[in-house]
Order: sequence, then structure tokens, then C-alpha cells
Amino acid sequence: MRLYNSLTRTREELPPAPGPIRMYVCGSTVYQRIHVGNSRPFVLAMWVKRWLESQGYVVRLVHNITDVDDHVYEEAAKQGIDSRVLADRATAWFFEDTNDLGLGRPDVEPRASETIPEIIALVRELIGRELAYESQGDVYFRVARFGEYGRLSGAQLEDMIAQEPSELKEDQRDFALWKSQKAHEDAAWDSPWGLGRPGWHIECSAMAEKYLGPDFELHGGGNDLRFPHHENELAQSLGAGRPFARVWMHNGMLQLDAEKMSKSLGNVVTLRNVLDVWGREALLLFHLSGHWRQPVDFNDEVMAQAAAQAESLRNAFRSPGAPGREEEFRAFEKALNDDFNTPQALAVLHEWRREQKVGLMRRGLEVFGLASLAVPDTAPSDVQRLAHERQAARDARQFAQADELRDQIEAAGWEVRDATGGFELVPRPG
Ligand SMILES: [Zn+2]
Repeated sequence: MRLYNSLTRTREELPPAPGPIRMYVCGSTVYQRIHVGNSRPFVLAMWVKRWLESQGYVVRLVHNITDVDDHVYEEAAKQGIDSRVLADRATAWFFEDTNDLGLGRPDVEPRASETIPEIIALVRELIGRELAYESQGDVYFRVARFGEYGRLSGAQLEDMIAQEPSELKEDQRDFALWKSQKAHEDAAWDSPWGLGRPGWHIECSAMAEKYLGPDFELHGGGNDLRFPHHENELAQSLGAGRPFARVWMHNGMLQLDAEKMSKSLGNVVTLRNVLDVWGREALLLFHLSGHWRQPVDFNDEVMAQAAAQAESLRNAFRSPGAPGREEEFRAFEKALNDDFNTPQALAVLHEWRREQKVGLMRRGLEVFGLASLAVPDTAPSDVQRLAHERQAARDARQFAQADELRDQIEAAGWEVRDATGGFELVPRPG
């Protein structure tokens, strides 16, 4: 399998199966329900893991949870609650929402707050190598000392703007490894430099090493993390003498088109909201239709298209299937083994759909967590959406609207029944 590496700017061959493939992905900062855009690196990582495992690889995926960060302190202060309480609550939301994607879970999901001793040890090592220095309770990385700085992102030292201006820095390009406790920060840890907390970048260097060792095959995350976050991770770990990640996978960002967003989605497009309005299958098909390295537009139109695709794939399982040949699966393998080209794999699935080769389809859909499409007796996604809207109307005590939605559901051939914690949809007799 070949993957494009942002560090070398070429496609590189992975070691042969069984590997192992050790993979680290930068996860979300937990202070609110995650944005739908944050689902892309999670989905991509889980798909790569599932695909490699189906090809006989041994994969270990570490997907971290950033629970010590400026955003957490600021949001907690705004709400007047303890920052640890907010982080725990938002971590629970993260698990709930990503569980509903139906892709399984990464092997390890470490939290920064549980990695403090390893972070402190790494900072001390960098100070020992004179790549970092203490300044009034803060510790900074000495960027000018690290000759390879800028290799990943192409950032030029001379052009670099200070990442966080401070009088405590020797050089404004330096970045913080440890920050002393500020007045509004209600959680701090003891360290050789006094009470404080780690900087964001060092958390990932320490968590990756703790769970994968000093060198590993893949490092993922959104393209927006390339600079400064990943550049800094690399500087810290290489600076401390670790080989660190070999292949860097940077996924393209979701681009939200405000004019094409509906009332139902609004401006706060959380993963929860998208799952409730469109369902997991449509969201996964949306992610499948864009190449992971490209930016993708997210709006109602593309989600409607994704939902229609889900329906057309599901429909194939409602009629008797034709036998497919084992060697035909190669086209699907070829697409994914060449830089994980999911739009191409999706085109192959649609070709099989037209030929009614449901056995091959089921095998391909399973990789992406879409085996549910091969079970035709579930309500189509538009009916499910109507049922979710009806539920929302009922919750808001808008009963006339709820009844109207029930009529529409029945006209589509389904009956909605109230059940504990929600509803169920059953086909109407006749
Ligand atoms: Zn990271």
C-alpha cells in the first residue's frame, strides 16, 4: 500500500503485512460537542485501520484526547464550572458521538491529563540538550537551535511570526513546552518549574511515544495542524533523539458553505447534529466521496446526494443478486492500496451495484462500516430523517407538526412507534 507523505511530498510504500503499522492521530480538544469537521480524521484513521487489518496487518491506532488546553480553561471559566468537569463531560460527548459512527474504536485513547509525568520527563530531556530553557516558570523550545525546523510545513524561520508573543522568550519564534499557572486556570500540576501545565504540542510527542514507542509508521491529523502543531511535535521528538513518525497523513479540511446550510443544521454544525439529521450512513458516504487529501465542501446539497447514494446502494440488496468473482475484488483493493483512494473505491461499489453483485458489495461496504446497507429491512434515510424531525417536534411539544410528519412517514410506507429513549420504524403491512 502506498500513502502520500507530507514530510517527503511523495507517495511511499508501507512495509509489507503484517507490519506492524503503528499510527498516531491528533484528536479533538474536549470543551464542547465536536464539530462535524473533526469527524474526518477520526473516520479516516478508523478506515485505514480496518482496511489494513483486512489485508493481514497488525495495526495499533492511538487517537489522543486533548483535555488540557487553553480552550478548556476559557470555556469552563465562561460557564463558571470546574475545567476538569467540563473536560470529562465533553470527553463523554466525544465517545458518544464517535461511537454512533459505528466504526469501532481506536486501540488507545490517551488523555493529556494522564500523561503529565511523561511530558515533564521529555521537557527535562530537551532542557538537558539545551534545546529548551526555563523562564519564570515557563519552559520554551529554542527554535533556532533545531536546524531542521520547517521541514514538514515549509515554514521559513525568518518569516515565522511569533506563535505566542511573550517577554519571557529569548526569541519570539520559540514556543512553550510548559506554562506556569495563570489566574483563571483552576487545574495545575507540580513540576520542576513550579505549578503549571503542558503546552499543546509536547502533549502529543509524549503520548505518541508512551503508547507507540520512539518511532512509528503513520501520523495523522487535519491539514490545519501541519503548522505549528506538527512542526513543533517533530522538532521536540527529533530534538530529543527519537526517529518519530515516518509518514505524515494530512487530511483536507471540511469547507462549510453558510448559504447552502439548512435551518435544521444551522450554524453550529456538530457531529451530533449531522448524525441526528442525516444519519451515520449518509455521513460516511459523504466522507467516502472525497479524497482524504482534498478539501471538501459540506452543505445540505452534498449530504442529500450522500443520502441518495446510501439508498441506491441499499436498494441493490432488495433484489436477488448476481455472483461476483473473487478476482473482481482487486479493483477495489487497487483503489485503496493506491493512496487510499476512496472515491475510486466508491465508483467500484457503484459498478457492482449496477451489475447487482451484492456479495462483492457487502465485502466492500464492510470495510467502511457500511454493512448495515446490506440489511434492506431498515427504513430509508429520508424516512429516518422525518422520524427524527418528528421526535424533535414532539420534544418541543409541537404536536400538530409531529402529526403531520407521522402522516408523511406513513405515506412512505413506514409506521413510527414510540419506544424507550426514542422511536422505532416498522414497515407498514400491505
Ligand atoms: Zn497532536
